[in-house]
Amino acid sequence: QAKNLGSNNILFFDPEEERRQFARRAMLQAAEKGIINNEFELHYQPQINMVEHKLIGVEALIRWNHPTMGFLYPADFTEVLEHPNTGILIGEWVLQEALSQHALWKIKDLMISVNISPAHLLSKDFAQRLSLLLQSMPNINPQSLELEILETVSICDINQAVEVVKACCQLGVHVALDDFGTGYASLNYLKKLPLNTLKIDKGFVQNLLINQEDRSIVKCIVALSQAFHYKLIAEGVESLEHEQTLIEMGCQLGQGYFIAKPMSADKMSDWILSYRQKYQLH
Ligand code: C2E
Ligand code: MG
Ligand code: MG
Ligand code: MG
Repeated sequence: QAKNLGSNNILFFDPEEERRQFARRAMLQAAEKGIINNEFELHYQPQINMVEHKLIGVEALIRWNHPTMGFLYPADFTEVLEHPNTGILIGEWVLQEALSQHALWKIKDLMISVNISPAHLLSKDFAQRLSLLLQSMPNINPQSLELEILETVSICDINQAVEVVKACCQLGVHVALDDFGTGYASLNYLKKLPLNTLKIDKGFVQNLLINQEDRSIVKCIVALSQAFHYKLIAEGVESLEHEQTLIEMGCQLGQGYFIAKPMSADKMSDWILSYRQKYQLH
């Protein structure tokens, strides 16, 4: 019997691996508790038209006030967001919370962008549950919600992803492909998906000023988005040079530290007021 065990089984006796598994399970359990105890929080980052100085949307970004580990960013609890149970539980909370906050802001034509994990997007009845949530919030126009999905959903199950995105689209909800250019989306995949928006990954934007290849990639993405009639947003706009270069290259929409860092809902309300005052908009 022992002879048939592959070398993988050695992992079982690896104390390092066991420690990791233990930490992972503890993290997942802590997250389930954290949802009940209200430990999660959404921060928001503005998305603007850099030419017209107009606010077009805000992206919701999750944070976790962990009782012992402190203030955590998504990268600190990726396994929680990607796990089928906690990923869905948290995902539903994020949608509910972001939409409620959007209703409180009462700003005309403001988009609210929400990141959806692959496990959540591909979970059973995603679109039906979203539809029920939207019905329960009559003040929300489905067209002001944008779901940000990752190219990686395509490698899980492209046909299922296409079905879900189509169903969301029928609800009037918008869909954006996040971190575009870093994943696996083929042009054929883009053709099949009814997408509204591409988000240029911040890695390309950050290297725009120093690397000719990244510049060429951004040029291609601009051309692609024009051909497919996508809305195009650059993320990781960290300086005036980034902003100017992007505008010259044909990308007017941006998001990044140069415009504003992610902030709490209260701070976001203040930011919106002062941004409008600065540019004399109403
Ligand atoms: P993302 O959706 O691509 O979000 C952009 C990330 O870049 C955010 O990190 C944001 O704070 C950061 N960022 C914004 N502007 C700049 C900039 O100018 N420079 C740099 N260096 N970074 C910038 P964050 O908040 O840590 O989120 C990381 C990732 O975690 C997100 O990437 C998204 O994939 C995921 N995530 C965030 N919130 C949620 C959520 O509610 N649910 C799920 N499933 N995933 C989430
Ligand atoms: Mg995003
Ligand atoms: Mg991104
Ligand atoms: Mg990202």
